[in-house]
Amino acid sequence: WFPVGSRSVPAGGPQQGLGRGAGLVPLKPGRSLMDWIRLTKSGKDLTGLKGRLIEVTEDELSKHNKKEDCWICIRGFVYNVTPYMEYHPGGEDELMKAAGTDGTDLFDQVHRWVNYESMLKECLVGRMAVKPIAAPKGSVHFLFYSYDWFQTDSLITIVIYTKQKDMNAELVIVDCQDKRLRGEIIIDDHSYLVEVDLDHAVSEDVAVNIAEKVGKVEIVLNKKDNIHWKMLGQPLEGHNTFIKRTDRGLFYRKCKLVSKTEVTHDTKLFCLMLPKGTLLHVPTGQHVYLKQIIAGTEVVKPYTPVLPSLPLDFQESPHQDGVHIYLMIKIYSHGLFTQALDHLQIGDYISVSNPEGNFKKSQVQTSEDLLLLAGGTGFTPMVKLLNFALTEVSCLRTVKLIFFNKTEDDILWRNQLEQLALKDERFEVQFILSQPSEDWVGKQGKISSSLLSEFVKRSRRDSKALICICGPTPFTEQGVQYLKDLGYSQEEIHAFTA
Ligand code: FAD
Ligand code: NAP
Repeated sequence: WFPVGSRSVPAGGPQQGLGRGAGLVPLKPGRSLMDWIRLTKSGKDLTGLKGRLIEVTEDELSKHNKKEDCWICIRGFVYNVTPYMEYHPGGEDELMKAAGTDGTDLFDQVHRWVNYESMLKECLVGRMAVKPIAAPKGSVHFLFYSYDWFQTDSLITIVIYTKQKDMNAELVIVDCQDKRLRGEIIIDDHSYLVEVDLDHAVSEDVAVNIAEKVGKVEIVLNKKDNIHWKMLGQPLEGHNTFIKRTDRGLFYRKCKLVSKTEVTHDTKLFCLMLPKGTLLHVPTGQHVYLKQIIAGTEVVKPYTPVLPSLPLDFQESPHQDGVHIYLMIKIYSHGLFTQALDHLQIGDYISVSNPEGNFKKSQVQTSEDLLLLAGGTGFTPMVKLLNFALTEVSCLRTVKLIFFNKTEDDILWRNQLEQLALKDERFEVQFILSQPSEDWVGKQGKISSSLLSEFVKRSRRDSKALICICGPTPFTEQGVQYLKDLGYSQEEIHAFTA
């Protein structure tokens, strides 16, 4: 709804289609995110209130419901978004849906991760005078879960009984830095949080023990000094709350860039190191958000972690260790975020959020045929998915990747994919180029009904299939439609989107 993006490209330019069918509209030249950031820094009075903040009544809010005078309330704060209209990548009409009202729900539905506070800070009119209409969402339950803690001379152990049979390390995220402990446990679509300012200092070596069968989670901290703690610490904002995951604000920690290697002419593999005291695993099919300050404004974009390489040997990679996060990122010559990323030096820090996403591994575990349709960097979720499918799912008979790119030079990890196909007879890869050179002997074309009917097939007439698709939004949307036309059901298709 406020997606951050530089969407202003010349009409008829090579990427013109990006804005269509994607919930994104082509913007006029000079209306990119960077242009917006420049405007907010220009010192221009964007609210019409000469820097004054006012208390806004519901009645007052509702009066500002026109394109040329549009106020919107988000989480109790009112913004005058009139000057932002033309810069909104989702288009003016989307923004107008919330004109003169509380847009919190609408915002959360579409892009709750977009850092509107930073983007719109110059548009802030003030606070709602009374309780906002849709107050910060999410009923808070204190009773479902609770924690206990105990100590020995050297250890502090925090225990949470989740009563979840399938509790595992991917569902526990711990950050312990500078006496501040944040332990989040994911329980279906909810999250339980322990968040305290610890009573005394602890060292950075945090451990998590999980008794999977009974769902017991222990967070073990090492005391810096062998003194007796009177209390665990002071509770912080989200402490001991059990709320819907989507109602929990994104938590970021600073990660160090440790290496940057070329994958193709425009795509790089970034290796980030989590800080000591952080335990975090990004589950298969999920993404994280990266946050950077660009020209004084916080900008957030999603990226899907990959592995350092495909599973070509049976040795576990030394980097698949819960310490490093690998991201395969295409650097766009006019991309706001990726240009800034490309300028990061080894040793620099970047903020990385907790994982998000609605893909469930169980979808793969019950399938016989796995078909992966990827367009460009839409390949990224397929990396962990391939690894998981080929190393952990025994019921799969065929795994096929159909990989769409513009040219041969754009194909990511081509060599590795070909080697994997030689190594594992269940796996097959098909490259399809939309703009091949004359000497390309492989398949050519764009995603279409006929191409999909040629390549997407069940291994047996009634075999259970899962088809995952990811790429530019119009590619994904068209692909899903073609698959449905070919008779695949909604349950058999998973589309990766934001
Ligand atoms: P932008 O400034 O947004 O622009 C990108 C390019 O597109 C520029 O060349 C720009 O001129 C052009 N452009 C933008 N809008 C239009 C338009 N309307 N019409 C025509 N051209 C346009 N990317 C990865 O590389 N790796 C990943 O693992 C990855 N994971 C993702 C996961 C999710 C869930 C999602 C939603 C996206 C993911 N992306 C990934 C994409 C990523 O989030 C960014 O969108 C991408 O990096 C571009 O950001 P940017 O700010 O550099 O580019
Ligand atoms: P690209 O190189 O521009 O295109 C890759 C392939 O997709 C090409 O064959 C291209 O053919 C085709 N394609 C592009 N636009 C199309 C359209 N409108 N309709 C049909 N086919 C189209 O791709 P890219 O720059 O790597 O972009 C990858 C995209 O994947 C980004 O938009 C990114 O946000 C998205 N992504 C999403 C996720 C996620 O949601 N989880 C994860 C990773 C990446 P043409 O010659 O026709 O352009």
